[in-house]
Amino acid sequence: MARTDTIVAAATPPGRGGIGIVRLSGPKTPELAAVILGELPVARLATFAPFLDAQRQPIDAGLALFFPAPHSYTGEHVLELHGHGGPLVSEALIERAVELGARRALPGEFTQRAFLNDKLDLAQAEAIADLIDAGSREALRAAMRSLQGEFSAMVRGLTEAIIDLRSYVEAAIDFPEEEIDFLADRELTERLEALRQHFAAVLDSARHGQLLREGMTVVIAGRPNAGKSSLLNRLAGYEAAIVTALPGTTRDVLREHIAIDGMPLHVLDTAGLREAGDIIEEEGVRRAYAQMQRADRVLFVIDALEDPAAEAFRLERARLPADVPVTLVFNKCDIAVGLPVADTLSGPQQLTVSALTGQGLTQLRAHLKECMGYRSAEAGAVSARRRHLEALARARAHLEDAARQLLERRAGELMAEDLRAAQQALNEITGEFTSEDLLARIFAGFCIGK
Ligand code: GDP
Repeated sequence: MARTDTIVAAATPPGRGGIGIVRLSGPKTPELAAVILGELPVARLATFAPFLDAQRQPIDAGLALFFPAPHSYTGEHVLELHGHGGPLVSEALIERAVELGARRALPGEFTQRAFLNDKLDLAQAEAIADLIDAGSREALRAAMRSLQGEFSAMVRGLTEAIIDLRSYVEAAIDFPEEEIDFLADRELTERLEALRQHFAAVLDSARHGQLLREGMTVVIAGRPNAGKSSLLNRLAGYEAAIVTALPGTTRDVLREHIAIDGMPLHVLDTAGLREAGDIIEEEGVRRAYAQMQRADRVLFVIDALEDPAAEAFRLERARLPADVPVTLVFNKCDIAVGLPVADTLSGPQQLTVSALTGQGLTQLRAHLKECMGYRSAEAGAVSARRRHLEALARARAHLEDAARQLLERRAGELMAEDLRAAQQALNEITGEFTSEDLLARIFAGFCIGK
């Protein structure tokens, strides 16, 4: 992509406010600054000046800040005009810059230039968008950690460990007479194991960050009439699902986005899990299972009055996705007093609530927050995206392949090849190997002016 043009955009949101900032970046910036301001301001010094139109009449007057390349956000010449915050003021300044040869910036284009000029890596660039979009203080802190390079440093740490291992293995390949012994070396298996643990730690941190950013998907499942829709309504705080006393009311999958203390949460109410009576209901059941496969957690609702031993869950258990954690929610505790609970059940956490009276809802909310890594946000979650997790998972799969080549086949060359693939997957996160397509998609998600 040619980066020889000069771009302009409002850096502050549209509307009225105390100050509105218009930003320019690119090689023509000093020239444009001299025309708009009458003269080029001193570098990095706030200079009060009129902002002039083509007739040299002031459009507005305010502070001008000039950052010569490469010491700027984008790494190019940058000019910021801090004027009064009215939509017409900003627009008139942008039009003036366009008259003088600048082009309106695309979403995220300033940050994209910063990335292309090595001011930040791709994970850091994404953290800027995450910081702007953060929906909670925890998400904000995680984004800030990523922006400061914590996540990139973790990924680089992994990359370096893989490079180390690669050179160790490649050295063996270069001396084939020693290869067999070398590959049987304890040191190699120990290093592999250390790398596995390293991966697990980074993935854990990134997974929490992704949950903080995107929220988690919770599926509410259970027998018809257990109170799933009522629970959803309680969590959402308004009538989101149709509640009736007739089994099979919820035929489709409903989706609600709710926030618990600013933490995003997606709730899906599902068709009752049972043999379907008709074709529409059957489709509802099919979708319910599909949704559960993709969920971060299943809230399995039990009617504590009808089913205090949680038979419904015992029967369904084998059909639930194995790797999605379940919380058993015993509902209707307002009428099922003194009852449950299925404490013989091993595994899932259990909570007692009443969707009708709201009893136990505070504990349920706290439990969900905990599942989202609310506490561990303090302990170092970094902002991460699905893209990052996928790359980490791919890198780890290559590492496992490498381990198999070593342990099962003693195949040094193939092992080195798998390690190389793992390294490449990690490099995608920080942007060393990234296609134009992916870059375009990432930066299109930014706002204009960033
Ligand atoms: P779903 O089929 O699992 O979605 O269940 P619904 O939410 O439609 O509830 C079925 C019936 O149980 C309705 O009549 C609700 O009013 C009732 N119900 C739901 N939760 C509670 C509860 O906590 N206590 C009592 N007493 N009734 C409840």
